[in-house]
Amino acid sequence: MYRTHTCGELRLSDVGNEVTLSGWVQRTREMGGMTFVDLRDRYGITQLAFSTEGNEELNQKARKLGREFVIQVKGKVIERSSKNMTIPTGEIEIIVAELNILNAAKTPPFTIENETDGGEEQRMKYRYLDIRRKAVLDKLRLRNKVSLETRKYLDSVDFMDVETPYLIKSTPEGARDFVVPSRMNQGEFYALPQSPQTFKQLLMVSGIDKYYQIVRCFRDEDLRADRQPEFTQIDCEMSFVEQEDILNTFEGMVKHLFKSCRDVEFEGDFPRMTYAEAMETYGSDKPDIRFGMEFKNMNSVTKDKGFKIFDEAELVLGIVANECAVYTRKQLDALTKWVQRPQVGAKGLVYAKYNDDGTFKSSVDKFYSQEDLQAWADHTGAKPGDLIFILSGDTDKVRSQMNDLRLHMGDELGLRNPNEFKPLWVIDFPLLEWDEDSNRFHAMHHPFTSPKAEDVALLETDPGKVRANAYDLAMNGVELGGGSIRIHDKSLQALMLKHLGFTEEEANKQFGFLMDAFEFGAPPHGGIAFGLDRLTATMGGSDSIRDYIAFPKNNSGRDVMIDAPATIDNEQLKELALKVEIEKE
Ligand code: ASP
Repeated sequence: MYRTHTCGELRLSDVGNEVTLSGWVQRTREMGGMTFVDLRDRYGITQLAFSTEGNEELNQKARKLGREFVIQVKGKVIERSSKNMTIPTGEIEIIVAELNILNAAKTPPFTIENETDGGEEQRMKYRYLDIRRKAVLDKLRLRNKVSLETRKYLDSVDFMDVETPYLIKSTPEGARDFVVPSRMNQGEFYALPQSPQTFKQLLMVSGIDKYYQIVRCFRDEDLRADRQPEFTQIDCEMSFVEQEDILNTFEGMVKHLFKSCRDVEFEGDFPRMTYAEAMETYGSDKPDIRFGMEFKNMNSVTKDKGFKIFDEAELVLGIVANECAVYTRKQLDALTKWVQRPQVGAKGLVYAKYNDDGTFKSSVDKFYSQEDLQAWADHTGAKPGDLIFILSGDTDKVRSQMNDLRLHMGDELGLRNPNEFKPLWVIDFPLLEWDEDSNRFHAMHHPFTSPKAEDVALLETDPGKVRANAYDLAMNGVELGGGSIRIHDKSLQALMLKHLGFTEEEANKQFGFLMDAFEFGAPPHGGIAFGLDRLTATMGGSDSIRDYIAFPKNNSGRDVMIDAPATIDNEQLKELALKVEIEKE
């Protein structure tokens, strides 16, 4: 037996006992005739004490211990004279009688402490060392807790965990597929699932009326802090349900997770907002409602005063930043530059300061009198001391730019507290979305989402207006999950695919298996999927999902630790009947 206790376990009540501990050397210190070692494992840190008086040989051995050596010690638990009340084991130490070095260690490339000197690249290359740090380990612990509590909750309401395959054929979730060549079927490829969407619907046809799976999904997309090429979903589907049943079931799950994993309780029902309202008020389908700064349509109070830019704009939009009239020229110039960056893409930023003395100062004073600006304040609800920001242009663009500015101001003003959680169901998404590049409609969610019954007729006359039985759960400006009630009728599914530009032949080739299944008694069904990585990161108060994944990929989709992706040798290519030809730009 390598150990009788862990390094996080011993307390005053263990004083006098003989124990054996194993772990990693965090630090050694020499003080007077004593050598102290902090011994670490997953559970905590215990102080070891070596005294010269007893055994000089043992003490010499202890002095030679390097950082991260793996050791085993045997000794007696004693009460510490100088206690460290910041750690649970801080009242005791072990007087060591026997020391065994289980494995020596090279000096690690960065310090294994909460505040490390390791840069991102180094930490990813030696991720297994990074995970020894408590700050990282605690994130994986939270993730473990979230998965465990998810299973407990779903099990308690009769959901059944069913695995679905990874080697499949394209799933239409709107991203590129990762493909896998088949050796046994040369020239053919599997696609890795972007989600188990079609399989979970087939399981409904099978009669598994409550399915879930904590499952890996693969999407070949450009990466950001909150995106990884492989990520994990809590994927769920239910039969004989309406939208309301799903929202209630999963609101229950999210409440359970926050209570059990963060001790956060939500009062009452999660608020709901239609997609149209969310876009109008926040310019986003995942609004951060931890703070106000709602959009105000300023068309009526800005037009016909000779300012061409506003006169010609489809939408003039304002937000009020409270108590920001004191902003200096320099600050306002910096904000203007910020909105003009290509990532935001605004042409300029108009402001109006509502000074404490009741006067106004704006960047468009030439066109707008003090009375006009007073009308802006009345219209937007600005008070003396506030600052009004205005952007104008085409509706979709202005909304998206204003959303960026609003979130940026929220950050600047400290209004986005990571330990405050504000959920919001966004409902009534449009079924279809026009894509300029391909000049056709795309499914906003995916092609299996059902239109609202009352909007089906619009499919022929005004497809862009059709609303879907689709919903997202947003929290703090992040989409935590989304789903829909599905089509379960073959002819409606065929009609939907037709509107998405599939010929009958293409539709049959790609989704014939699902439409066939719909002819064998498909129950009404619907579902939802949550991003486990994002959910955990949000719960942990972070935007980076990478920190919550044990072995994540970097922004170029590389695993720098194992150095993947990598080339494969010719033998392997031959077996797969593949030839690699890289086109030079
Ligand atoms: N399959 C969907 C997604 O991955 C979720 C759902 O509709 O249940 O976003």
